[in-house]
Amino acid sequence: MTRAATWRVRGFTTEERGDRSRVSAVVEGPKAAEAIWFESADLRLSLVPEAWAAMLLLPALHFGARVEVEAALDRDWLEGLRPALAVWRRWWDYPAELPLQGGGRLLHGSGAPGEFVGQCFTGGVDSFFTLLHSADPADVLLYVQGFDVALGDVALADHVETSLRRAANRLGRRLLVLRSNLREHPAFRRVNWERTHGAALAAAGMVASGTLRELRIPASYAHGDQIAWGSHWETDHVWSLPGRLAVVHDGAETVRPAKIRQIAHDPLVREHLRVCWESRGPELNCARCEKCLRTRVAFAACGHDEVPAFAGAVPLHVQLDGVKRLPEHLVFVWEELLGRVTEPRLRQTITRLVARSSAVSARRDSAH
Ligand SMILES: [Zn+2]
Repeated sequence: MTRAATWRVRGFTTEERGDRSRVSAVVEGPKAAEAIWFESADLRLSLVPEAWAAMLLLPALHFGARVEVEAALDRDWLEGLRPALAVWRRWWDYPAELPLQGGGRLLHGSGAPGEFVGQCFTGGVDSFFTLLHSADPADVLLYVQGFDVALGDVALADHVETSLRRAANRLGRRLLVLRSNLREHPAFRRVNWERTHGAALAAAGMVASGTLRELRIPASYAHGDQIAWGSHWETDHVWSLPGRLAVVHDGAETVRPAKIRQIAHDPLVREHLRVCWESRGPELNCARCEKCLRTRVAFAACGHDEVPAFAGAVPLHVQLDGVKRLPEHLVFVWEELLGRVTEPRLRQTITRLVARSSAVSARRDSAH
């Protein structure tokens, strides 16, 4: 039996230069020793070693590696992770043992805990729903450059930041923008971000915990969706750091169409909504990928055909007629969507799209 690889986390540093605050640690493995850092000009960051332990946990489970952190890790926090191990084992067949170990030395870079409730905010449906429909809405919004937009994609990153700052301003909220190179590290490059992003968001919350006492993560899926996902109602809370930061998964009781129905009337949402992962230009949404089209139809079903966030787009029915077929696993979502559309021409267009997409899968089924 080969011995498990050991990744070491060492060289914790914190740096305040000009208006920029930065926390960093070197992660040795799986290939070279490279630093993983967070920085921000919006707040003073805290050197919380559990942040590095959290972000490396899923990659370590994925590669069967061990992580030795050269700093003391909170024992209760480590114990609290165990229920999530069972969930990830069920979803992805990951090892049952916790591969994290602290090194005993206490770091003193974390400072006093913060007082604000923060919410992860990307400008998407889930972000707006959590912000606008919480009984106790967040005080500040948190966005991390380098997570959904690559650090090197400067034009798009600037455009997204400008839109989020404008939205936050109009909502009377403070926006905290962090940057991180986490996704460029070899430990992350070969593990699906769909599995690791929840821990990454929690890690961002931990380094922001000199400002935040709670980090709220808007749910991507509802309770009944049964989708294995990096940020999930079964696992997000385990990242909570006792006495310092509560991590709360929010909004999983509401399905996406119901979320859209509850936010579609808000002009601010229609202007700043950002749902697209395909946009390669400076625009927020490409307006033609499946997710953009599905969202445009959902807004149209609420009586909003013109949504400024999809500005300049080809009319919806024309764009839909240009779609060859839907991905097979999403046909049922469009069938549900069709049930809510009343406008005759749009109904016909979607009916045709669903029919040609179903015909393809039916042909494939009969060929087997
Ligand atoms: Zn798109």
